[in-house]
Order: sequence, then C-alpha cells, then structure tokens
Amino acid sequence: MNEILLLNKVCKTYGKTFALKNISLGFKKGIIAGIVGPNGAGKSTLLKIIAGYVSPNRGEVLFFNKRFSFMERQKILSYMPETLDLYPDFYVSEIVDFVFSIYGESGKNLLDALKLHSVFDKKIKQLSKGFKQRVKLFLSLSGNKEIILLDEPFDGFDPLQMKEIFGVIKTENEKGKTFVLSIHHLNHAEKICNYFVLMKDGEVVSCGTLERLKKNYGVLDSSLEEVFERALS
Ligand code: ADP
Ligand code: MG
Repeated sequence: MNEILLLNKVCKTYGKTFALKNISLGFKKGIIAGIVGPNGAGKSTLLKIIAGYVSPNRGEVLFFNKRFSFMERQKILSYMPETLDLYPDFYVSEIVDFVFSIYGESGKNLLDALKLHSVFDKKIKQLSKGFKQRVKLFLSLSGNKEIILLDEPFDGFDPLQMKEIFGVIKTENEKGKTFVLSIHHLNHAEKICNYFVLMKDGEVVSCGTLERLKKNYGVLDSSLEEVFERALS
C-alpha cells in the first residue's frame, strides 16, 4: 500500500475518440516513471487527468489512497505541460524573481543545475527551444512538490544537454520526489526511468520495471524498444 498515486479504471473520450480506455495503474513513492508510447497513445491526457486539468469520464485518481480536489492536488504536485506559452517579453530574471517571490529561494540550486544564469538578461522570445525548456523545468521543479509530472521534458535538447537534464531530474529524485514523465522516445525513457508504462491507442499495453518487462516477454538482452515491439506483436 505504499503507492503514492493510483488510477482506477480511468476513461476519457473526446467526442468519438477514446483517449484513455479503462486505465488502472499504481505509482510507488520515489520512482521515476516513464509513460511511453507513440503519438496519440494518450500520454498527455493521462498526465492532465492526474494533474486535475482534465476530468475523466469515468474512474478515479487517488493520492495516498484519497481523492484530492484540484486545489489539494496543486499543493502536492507540479505539472509541466508539453506546450507552455511563457510571456515572450518577460526577461528570464523576472520569471526567476517571480518564482522566488512565491516559493522562496529554495530553488536557487536549480538555477546552477539548469544553467539559467547565462540567459538572465534574455527575453523568453530570444531563447532557444532548449533554454525555454530549461525555464519550464525550473518552474516545475521550484515548488518542492512531492509529485512532478513532466510532459515530454527532453524535447529540444541535444544528447549532451539531455544528460545534464537527466542529472537534474535524478538529483531531485534523490531528494525523495516522485516523477511521472511522458516520453515518446523509448531510448530516452530507458536512460532515466526505473518504471515504465507502455501505452498504445489509449490502453496500457504493459507496465513494470525494465527487468520485469524483459522477463514477461522473454527478451532478456533487449532494449525497451524491442520489449515494446514484442509487447505489441
Ligand atoms: P499523446 O500525448 O500520447 O500523443 P494525447 O493524450 O495527446 O496522446 O492524445 C490521445 C488522443 O486523444 C489522440 O487521439 C488525440 O488526438 C486525442 N485528443 C487529445 N486531446 C484532445 C482534445 N483536447 N480534443 C480532442 N481530441 C484530443
Ligand atoms: Mg503528448
């Protein structure tokens, strides 16, 4: 019963589209979970439902085995959407000051980790995709929340930068934070996550640790991608 987050028979439709079909999942405290699968699998919808921004048609989401209102959720989790339109004319330093004014300066170490000092005097609209993503990550990690939901956090980074971002997430995870990440690149997920939810067409195809999934599909020397292919065949 040490699951911090439970989804119980969650369904979501948009018109005639079944975005999520009867999803039941449990997430243990302290994991870095990867929701993986191709575009349209339902990954973003799942994160939005956990965050409380989208309501399921059926089913429930429980935190510590209890239902939480939208406001209660915002106290324990932070959610980084895939697209977040930051005010283009704001300077990075203004956003940082704003975050510190809300949460205090406990997130100061994140500025170094995310290398944001170098762009303090730049406006959001002048930033590369990777640096915009770093600002989004700064916003999501600053509040010291217990559960961090990140939708496609590695978009916009080259392989070296991605390693840095993996490091930032791992450091925060070592402080006890639980991560649920939506990732469409299976090889990225394999490098950072220690629990996987494989999704396709709104359904969970399989879930577990990589070791468990490999055993389930009898592919011991395989990558996550090969496991997923086997799971779908
Ligand atoms: P993923 O993040 O895995 O790419 P999504 O959760 O974004 O998947 O989408 C799952 C399905 O739901 C897709 O078929 C998508 O087109 C549909 N969908 C998502 N959001 C909406 C929306 N706001 N209105 C209508 N259909 C949507
Ligand atoms: Mg998505």
